[in-house]
Amino acid sequence: MSAVEGLRQVEMLMERAARDAGRDPAAVKLVCVSKTHDGAAILPVLAAGCRIFGENRVQEAAGKWPALRASHPDIELHLIGPLQSNKAGDAVRLFDVIETVDREKIARALADEMARQNRFPRLFVQVNTGAEPQKAGILPGDVKDFMQFCRESCGLVISGLMCIPPAAEQASPHFALLARLAAEVGVSGLSMGMSHDYALAIALGATQVRVGSAIFGART
Ligand SMILES: *Cc1c(COP(=O)(O)O)cnc(C)c1O
Repeated sequence: MSAVEGLRQVEMLMERAARDAGRDPAAVKLVCVSKTHDGAAILPVLAAGCRIFGENRVQEAAGKWPALRASHPDIELHLIGPLQSNKAGDAVRLFDVIETVDREKIARALADEMARQNRFPRLFVQVNTGAEPQKAGILPGDVKDFMQFCRESCGLVISGLMCIPPAAEQASPHFALLARLAAEVGVSGLSMGMSHDYALAIALGATQVRVGSAIFGART
């Protein structure tokens, strides 16, 4: 299957999942995860109309997106991977949405850079819903305090929450937890669902799903 065929299938299944859940399909955005794929692989997906892309490394994105943006200025680029504070400036410059705000140091660095550059990417807080020691993200019990820190100490506007459920568990309790936390802290964005579980995430309220291999094929 080509990437464009994969894209069409994902779009169709997203629409079906939204309708089955009684939701407006237009309320769920597809973030095409293009990490590891070069510009030549991305161009057909751009030509097919996709404008929202996700990358997990700042350096990789810096290498390939400026050229693609020059020909497609309406691209919306999401950072979905971990951010080091010394890369906050590059991240603010390159990305339109940063989904991985996951500690105080990053929140402060982003606030400083956004003021310096007068550029304001939308921000999501990453939540470690499974409390996995090796995984980034704010623990569920700390989300309220962290949101308060972002808003009151850093003056940041947070648009939503993001999670990556543990690989070996059912995703639905994690998606439901993220939705509950978002309601508690008063944000509407819910970034959840990947290639194998985006339909489930849509049923549980996702406003954006992050889909890579179902579009581009398995990463090597
Ligand atoms: C790679 C990645 C995805 C996409 O994963 P697929 O299983 O290929 O759809 C989604 N979210 C994050 C954070 C990722 O790193």
